[in-house]
Formats: sequence, C-alpha cells, structure tokens
Amino acid sequence: MTSEQPGEEAADLELLRQWDWDHVWHPFEPHDIGAPQKPPLFVRGEGCWLIDSEGNRVLDGVSSLWCNLHGHRVPDIDQAIRDQLDQLAHSSLLGAINIPAARLARKLVEVAPKGLSRVYFSDDGATAVEAALKIAFQYQQQRPNPQPGKNRFLALNEAYHGDTLGAVAVGDIPRFHRQFGPLLFPVKRVCQPFCYRCPLNLKRPECALACASEATELIGRHAHELAAVIVEPVVQGAAGMVVAPAGWLEAVALACKRFDVLLIADEVATGFGRTGRLFACEHEGIVPDLMCLAKGITGGYLPLAATLATEAVFQAFCGPPSEGRAFYHGHTYSGNPLGAAAALASLEMLLKPGYLAEVETKGKQLEAGLAVLAKHAHVGEIRRKGLMLGIELVANSVTRAPFGAAERVGRRVTDHARSHGVLLRPLGDVVVVMPPLSITGAEIDLLAQAVSRAIFETLPEGFN
Ligand SMILES: *Cc1c(COP(=O)(O)O)cnc(C)c1O
Repeated sequence: MTSEQPGEEAADLELLRQWDWDHVWHPFEPHDIGAPQKPPLFVRGEGCWLIDSEGNRVLDGVSSLWCNLHGHRVPDIDQAIRDQLDQLAHSSLLGAINIPAARLARKLVEVAPKGLSRVYFSDDGATAVEAALKIAFQYQQQRPNPQPGKNRFLALNEAYHGDTLGAVAVGDIPRFHRQFGPLLFPVKRVCQPFCYRCPLNLKRPECALACASEATELIGRHAHELAAVIVEPVVQGAAGMVVAPAGWLEAVALACKRFDVLLIADEVATGFGRTGRLFACEHEGIVPDLMCLAKGITGGYLPLAATLATEAVFQAFCGPPSEGRAFYHGHTYSGNPLGAAAALASLEMLLKPGYLAEVETKGKQLEAGLAVLAKHAHVGEIRRKGLMLGIELVANSVTRAPFGAAERVGRRVTDHARSHGVLLRPLGDVVVVMPPLSITGAEIDLLAQAVSRAIFETLPEGFN
C-alpha cells in the first residue's frame, strides 16, 4: 500500500469514526459490539481506487458492491451531474415530466432487447424487482382475457432479488431470508442451473441440460397459476456467481412464451456490460416481458433503477381513470433528474465502440492471472462471465465438500487481500472479484496477484 499524508483533518476523522460507531447501523453487518472492527473510512476515489482516511489506496475489487463501471470521479459523469444540478435537482415524475428521465427512457428502449418499450423508474434493485412483481400480478388480472388465477411466481433456488418483502419472497438465501418466512407469499421453486454442484447429480454434456427440461416441465405444469417466472439471466450473482450453462435461459424463455407466463429478467447485477454484453439476455438472444435494472445504471454514482416492460404488458394498464387500471405504485424520487443525467453519461461511455469487447478481454486476463490457483487443494472452481468472477473455496476439492461456515474462510481471504491493497467482499466461501469495467491491464495483474496471495496465505496447505 502506498501512503499519502493524512491531512489536517485526521483528528476530525477519528471523531467521525466514533460517531459512526455510536450511531450508524450498517447493512448486512453483524455489529459484534464485543469485538470492535476497524472498517476502512473512505474519503476519496480516483479511477478504480478508493483512498481511506489514513491515505491508504485500495483497489475497488468489487466495484463498490457491483455498481461502479467506469471508476470513481469520472469527468464525463461528474460534469453531467453538475450541469443537471444547475438546472434542476429533483421534481416528481407523478403527473410531470423531466428532461433527463425522458431522454434516458428513450435511450434505454433503444439499447434494450427489442420489444421492451416502456420504462418504469424507481430507486434501487429491490424496488425495480418489487415493481416487476406487482406489474406481473396486476397484468394477469387486467390483460385481454383476464387470468386472475395466474397469481403466483416461480423462482430459482438460492435466488437473490433484493431485501424488500416481495423481493425477499422470491429470494431463497436461507441466512438472509429464512427469518422472514411468516411474512412472505408462497413461491414455486426450480433447481439452479449449477454445473459444479448439479442439483440433479448429473454431468455435462451427458445431462442434456436436464435442469432446463425440469424448469420447462414445472412451468408447464403450473402455468395456470403462474403470473411470472423470475430469473437472474446467465449469472446468479449473490448465489455465488453461478454461471448457467448455455441454452438454459433460452429454454426457460421459450417455456414462458409457450405456456403464457411472463418472464422477469432481473439484470440488476448483470446489466450494463458486466457480462461482456450490454445485457445478459443478449447472450441467448431472448426478450423478457419485464427487465429489472439498477446497480450499474448510473455507473455507480446515484440510486436509480428501472423496470422495463413490453408494450403488451403496458397496454393492460391503459384506460380512463374510472376503469382503475393504473399502476398505483411509485416512489418520491422516481426518475430523479440527477440520477438520470448520470445514467445517460454512463451509457454514452459504455456504448463507445470497442468498450464491451474489452470487458471480455479483461475478464480473460483476470482469469489467466488467477491460473496459479487452479491446482490449489482448496480452490473448487473459478467461474466467470465477462468481469463477474467467483472463486469457490472448498475444504476438499476432490469431494467438493465445503468448509464449515464458522471458519469464515471467504472473509479471511478478503482480510488478507486488503493488506495487499485490494478491497473485496466475499459471498460465504466464494471470493467475488468484480472490478470496475474501466480497470487497466496493470491493475488487473495487481488484483489477480493480491487475490492469489491472499488465498495462499489463508490456506497455505497447498496443492493437490
Ligand atoms: C443487488 C441485487 C438486487 C437488489 O438491488 P439493491 O439496489 O441492493 O436493492 C436485486 N437483484 C439482484 C440480482 C442483485 O444482485
């Protein structure tokens, strides 16, 4: 780590650290009062780097929780926000228009899979999902030839779609979700397309994509009661960077069409170039009925989200007020002009020729840099799509037996990585490596070396 002068405010920063300790309730943190931690206190960003209160620079290896695309303090995005700030910071989208939201809606429809023509704005991934679920439910009651019996959802095992109650209901990560069971609506489940831990105990390619057949069969069998199927296309992020085998998504999309069930693609993690295509749905040429976007939408700057819908879905909500077909749902900051301005600037950068092709090149370089781990006795699998990468650590790479949760192996690896100047956040024992798309070749090498070293330091017992 390189150090910079801490600056004169060092004493103030210690006071702020105390105020944080006394008052801030951090998301997803155990808050073990008996074992005080010293989390980093970031004061500045610079490209792919975060700079803490002591002047230490750390590489942002998880893109500030999967949302940063072009690094921190990007001149074009900074300027777009400043320009908008000189015009209007916020006005409501309820019964009024703002310029950046209209421009962004137009742009999103241009670049999204063909057929998605309507944009419903909200603030976060969870709200984008929540809106999609309610739209799907209400659509089935108001569509031509209404199907009120189609009022349930089918979701994947180990799914993660956010933390509001509807999103939690379709989610299935026991540690996050089990507690809230009594509050949730029932959801049908289908097995994950997860080859390393095949839920059907089969092997590729002899399996002939049995998991997709199972999904198709379930959708067919429950079609009469299903409003929609919700999936994370191609990569199930929070489940541990689970990359679906080619063909699975297309099969599910076909089944939804065939059995007249809506398909909701949750692209909150995969969208905006993360997988090497603008949207993960493009990998299999599918068009969902509803598509949820958030995280990367503003390049990692401001909270903004969008739920895209097809014209057919939207039309079911049109009519005179007396018919009560409107979607009575919304948020104060829907379509916030500053967020929309940031999103437009970020999209313009993403759409520059060659930008997305480079994501795949960089992903390959990152994977090559981690090749030294391939023979490590505790590295089960390295999974990657574009610049979404997960390293699954296991107690035994032959039997694939996991470590005990109490060993906190993933957490220990990311602690070591931080001492090598890289900020990571694990998902259990999957070490997530997901840097900004703008990362340079030299930074990729540094990142790969730090991650490999951290794994060897945490688990020194070596090779198979
Ligand atoms: C992060 C995430 C969400 C929730 O997004 P928030 O902005 O944190 O509410 C939803 N779906 C997926 C796939 C995600 O990765």
